[in-house]
Formats: sequence, C-alpha cells, structure tokens
Amino acid sequence: MSWELVVKQTFSSAHFLENYRGKCEKMHGHTFRAEVYFEVHTLDKAGISIDFTEIKSYLLDLLPDHKLLNDEFDFSPSAENLSRYFYIKIKEKYPVSKVVIWESENAGAIYSEKDNSGDRR
Ligand SMILES: [Zn+2]
Repeated sequence: MSWELVVKQTFSSAHFLENYRGKCEKMHGHTFRAEVYFEVHTLDKAGISIDFTEIKSYLLDLLPDHKLLNDEFDFSPSAENLSRYFYIKIKEKYPVSKVVIWESENAGAIYSEKDNSGDRR
C-alpha cells in the first residue's frame, strides 16, 4: 500500500546560466513552480501521512523567493540543478520521491533517484 503526495509552491527569482551561450546567459526572472512528490506507506488516525500544512511551511522556508539564485548557490542554477539540489535537501527530512522545477508553463526538469532501468521491456 502506498500513496504519492504532491505539494506545489511557487517562488519568484532571478538567475542566469553560467557556461552557456544564448539568451539565458543574461540575468532574467521566472516565477518558478516547485512540485514535490512524497511516497508514503502509512497513515495516522486522522487518515493522513505528512501534514500538508507542515510541508508547505517547510517549502516556504526552503525555496529562495526574490533572490538572485546565482548568489544563493555554488552551482549554475538551471532547472536541472535546482531540482536535484532541492531533492537532496528535502530528503534529509521527508520521504521525497521526485522534485519538479518548472521555469515556465511549458518547460521544467524532474529529478528523482528511482532506478527505472528494471522497468524497460
Ligand atoms: Zn531562466
């Protein structure tokens, strides 16, 4: 028995891509959307696993709102790197299964450490 919970949270920040040639090497902003998925197997007496209110306030503290991401991190803050970074951070505290970072309505990166190699047929 398992459930996958998902919590969404947006943050507005600026970044530029390092070691990249093109439009995105210049500073620009996004309203990023983080989608965090958790895999849980047990529920408490109230019928819940992880309290959404607790996760939301944890994410509000974690996600860098109104920041220049290049100053916040020692890596190039692409959607790929951000999704991996938040996954590793959240994993210290919660049973995260994947993190999606959307840079726009149509483009985002998904990070998970699930090994899907056995699923190929
Ligand atoms: Zn960008």
